[in-house]
Amino acid sequence: SVQALHKTMQIGLDGARRDAAHFINGEFTQGTTGKSWENRSPLDNSLIGRVPEGGRAEIDAAVTAAQAALDGPWGALTVGQRTDLLAAVADEITNRFDDFLAAECLDTGKPYGLASHIDIPRGAANFKMFADTVKNISTETFLLEQGGGRSALNYGLRRPKGVIAVISPWNLPLLLMTWKVGPALACGNTVVVKPSEETPLTATLLGEVMNKVGVPRGVYNVVHGLGPQSAGEFLTQHPGVNGITFTGETRTGEAIMRQAALGVRQVSFELGGKNPALVFADCDLDAAVEGTLRSAFSNCGQVCLGTERIYVERTIFDAFVARLKAGAEALKLGRPEDPATNLGPLVSQDHRDKVLSYYRLALEEGATLVTGGRVPDMPGELANGAWIAPTIWTGLKDDARVVNEEIFGPCCHIRPFDTEEEAVRLANSTPYGLAAAVWTQNLSRAHRVAARMEVGICWVNSWFLRDLRTAFGGAKQSGIGREGGLHSLEFYTELSNVCIQL
Ligand code: NAD
Repeated sequence: SVQALHKTMQIGLDGARRDAAHFINGEFTQGTTGKSWENRSPLDNSLIGRVPEGGRAEIDAAVTAAQAALDGPWGALTVGQRTDLLAAVADEITNRFDDFLAAECLDTGKPYGLASHIDIPRGAANFKMFADTVKNISTETFLLEQGGGRSALNYGLRRPKGVIAVISPWNLPLLLMTWKVGPALACGNTVVVKPSEETPLTATLLGEVMNKVGVPRGVYNVVHGLGPQSAGEFLTQHPGVNGITFTGETRTGEAIMRQAALGVRQVSFELGGKNPALVFADCDLDAAVEGTLRSAFSNCGQVCLGTERIYVERTIFDAFVARLKAGAEALKLGRPEDPATNLGPLVSQDHRDKVLSYYRLALEEGATLVTGGRVPDMPGELANGAWIAPTIWTGLKDDARVVNEEIFGPCCHIRPFDTEEEAVRLANSTPYGLAAAVWTQNLSRAHRVAARMEVGICWVNSWFLRDLRTAFGGAKQSGIGREGGLHSLEFYTELSNVCIQL
């Protein structure tokens, strides 16, 4: 229960309630604005604690601390010393696994089974992997032959970019925040994090880890707040910030890009999606159904890489729809600590209102409801939570809003196709371009179709299978730049060329 989760946590400040705090220059503080908001559990709407809203003063203090750390002890560390500290951060996250698990599940209501396999281990791995990466990289060298026996030696030098603003979303809070903080610190930068207002706890808890393992003060800072006219906007406008990395909605990305234009700061964006799955008649149907159940409904559909549009070859359409329906109806909604739970609630009542508005719109647009489409009956105090039923539709036109707009809930639309050409055209018919899943046993078709997907990430016969060394990001309106492995270095370092006349 939420009460039990409260007890297992030891976060930042004292008290039975779990209040969040800013973490600035190595210290927890409530800041000076006097403004705060209630953090409520999506399980039952009970109060978790309060979250202070940072203003310009908190952002200024955090950026100043981050600059001082660059010029001070952090900037003086060798790569080996720095990466040892990051490995210690990873180990300490693992030592405090239960605290991180409790914090993440309090904020999001997601099942322990999910967070203990994905969110928390990946939070630790993001520090270890990027620490290993930066220890083992070289830069380019070129010898320029000028004739007449003269030549010049060119070589690249990578320096940290400086103070990085990290703006992160609520769906995988620790995982997506550390996906940015890990490489930023490994490359020698310092960070100011503005976590999502929905999920303040794990970013706060990470402050304790930084202090425990001896990361110098000012290297990792957290300021809570909202987006517009609040900490998010103030941070991304701050002239002391040298680069902005953001994961969230495409429309928010547009606003941040305008803010980043002041002072021509670079951005790295991982944005929204409306991801397709293409299911061909020659697929392994068991694998395709199992994979699509995960891609449509995991984390209650709140995964940027999740599938909301499914295109199925007509000869297996009815069988596929029937099996996905049976799978969706077998999913168990419940409390995080119940091992039988497959799905938690949506992250908030507000988000449920948004998802329910699409559930209504689907029917207005003429959808056939295969399953779900409603608020489920939940027992006891859970009736006050942000629960929603997994939902499948068929029969919508290609230009329906439900087929084109990101809903970010446990729902998908399934449409038949007749030819490979048609499937490819339908998959690409969106301004988004984050991910696609292709299900086929035909090797040639797999390569052929994957190459034509206008996305950053294409899975064949799998979904969410992630090798952290590979490029991650979105095409079209789903992002700018790539993160992951060596690709993260492009954003988190400044590459200079040194040319020596020999
Ligand atoms: P969001 O865009 O509403 O908010 C993300 C963050 O931006 C929050 O911390 C918010 O406070 C902040 N913010 C909002 N307005 C701002 C402004 N004007 N200036 C500065 N900061 C501002 O996104 P969300 O609802 O938290 O997350 C869900 C979205 O994120 C979905 O669209 C999803 O597809 C996307 N997402 C993408 C990826 C990816 O890797 N491509 C991963 C996860 C989520």
